[in-house]
Amino acid sequence: QLAFPPTVGGQTLMGLPTLWRLRSWHDAGVWPLDDHWRDADIVLAETWTGLIEPAVKARPEGEIRDEAQVRMLARALSLLPAPELEALMSNLPDAAREEAWTLGIGAGDRLCELADPLKPPPLADDCFALPPGVDWTPVDAALDRLRERLHPIAGKETVPVADSAGRVLYKDLRALRSNPPAANSAVDGYGFAHASNGGGPRTLPLIEGRAAAGVPHGDTVPAGHAIRILTGATLPDGVDTVVLDEDTRTDGARVAFNEPPKARVNTRKAGEDVARGKVFLEAGRRLTPADLALCAALGHGRIPVRKRLRVGVLSTGDELTEPGSEAGEDRIFDANRPMLLSLIARWGMAPVDLGLAADRRDAVASALSDARTSCDAVLTSGGASAGDEDHVSALLRESGAMAEWRVAIKPGRPLALGTWEGTPIFGLPGNPVAALVCSLVFARPALGLMAGENWLVPRGVMVPAAFSKDKKPGRREYLRARLNDDGHAEVFPSEGSGRISGLSWATGLVELGDGARRVEPGEPVAFLSYAAFDG
Ligand code: AMP
Ligand code: MG
Repeated sequence: QLAFPPTVGGQTLMGLPTLWRLRSWHDAGVWPLDDHWRDADIVLAETWTGLIEPAVKARPEGEIRDEAQVRMLARALSLLPAPELEALMSNLPDAAREEAWTLGIGAGDRLCELADPLKPPPLADDCFALPPGVDWTPVDAALDRLRERLHPIAGKETVPVADSAGRVLYKDLRALRSNPPAANSAVDGYGFAHASNGGGPRTLPLIEGRAAAGVPHGDTVPAGHAIRILTGATLPDGVDTVVLDEDTRTDGARVAFNEPPKARVNTRKAGEDVARGKVFLEAGRRLTPADLALCAALGHGRIPVRKRLRVGVLSTGDELTEPGSEAGEDRIFDANRPMLLSLIARWGMAPVDLGLAADRRDAVASALSDARTSCDAVLTSGGASAGDEDHVSALLRESGAMAEWRVAIKPGRPLALGTWEGTPIFGLPGNPVAALVCSLVFARPALGLMAGENWLVPRGVMVPAAFSKDKKPGRREYLRARLNDDGHAEVFPSEGSGRISGLSWATGLVELGDGARRVEPGEPVAFLSYAAFDG
């Protein structure tokens, strides 16, 4: 149609030869007319500047209209996030394959928004809204990466069993002896040889003396006789069964009782708990008080453990000052450092206080350099994003050893991971709530691995929710929570990440998975107590 609007004929006549020439260049595909455009290096697509007319109207005074059209449309299309562009290019009517199509149709408002750099962005009620084009790493993928890349670095030593709680075993432990080492009595009573007559009343003469724990009798008990025996005493030869005190009558010379129907009642077999030579604890385990009992019982006086991982804690921010010091109202007390230092101690590692660093690159750099000899790893808090004063991430980026992970977690924000002069650095967010959650979710298993521990997967329990919530898809959320008297999980009323009181109110976290979820009261949710992260 060469005359009357819309005049497309002129453009077609001029355009087809031009398109033909362009196509002969390199590896070019024409969208959406051929099937080849998806894997072409260059895709030729028709678009239309009218799509962004409102933005063009608001162009700077004096700029030529055509120039503004091209500049703004190019800008808008280049800023369009890949998934949105993909949707625009894929969701087409059938006729588009024959008649072609105009790239951008249906996205005029969005393109206008991107066309003008000074147009205020739409209000984000959610500070976690994805900036265009940014991919967030799911929590599990981030954890998998940490697990792949880290390895145990803590040294080895042996320590007395009594000092080994919270330490990590570096080799499997075998029982040096059986528990119990010999058959013994489980009660105070009278020992005898079971008569295999299936029970009934018996009266047996007592032999002289008794068998007590640690003080064996020594002699064989003749058939048809009984012996006074106490809990824990090794069974004398000739004794396979013990009758409980309360089930007997005695005159001092004889004992009368109803014989239990089965032999070996009230006795413990040698090795019935653990047999000698058996591996009873495996390398990578962090020892509990109960483990110490087991180690001791099975003959281990000294335990082969990893040296404690030395973990430094550095707070960054010009606004921070020591708790309890004189401070104007534009300063805040450093809340993260005492929290993180005590968490590290709780994880069986050695906390190293690296103090406070101002928001200056050289201050952060020198604090991290000082940590090189005193620490195996460092947790910093604050300054981990990409803002003007975010010197931790800037430093790590500069040193070339930075992996800034935008992890899809709330509360979270970017986690700066890197090494500084060989020391692994976990750059945690400054907000105490996010700092705690990221420490528990990421730093805990990662530091544990470096400390020689098995990879920690905190075990939650499913409990009914005592709250309702509409959760958006695309990230994992952790809510400060505790169990109420009914054992249901209630959550702190405010999700604001500056609300330290909520951290303290809570006894753990409710974990809501990556997808969208509508939680109603009574529905099961995963509750992870803070203790679940202890390991
Ligand atoms: P940043 O990650 O440095 O941007 O800090 C985020 C927020 O957390 C800011 O409001 C900081 O003042 C606050 N913040 C940073 N570090 C600490 C800390 N050690 N104790 C308490 N609040 C902090
Ligand atoms: Mg800061």
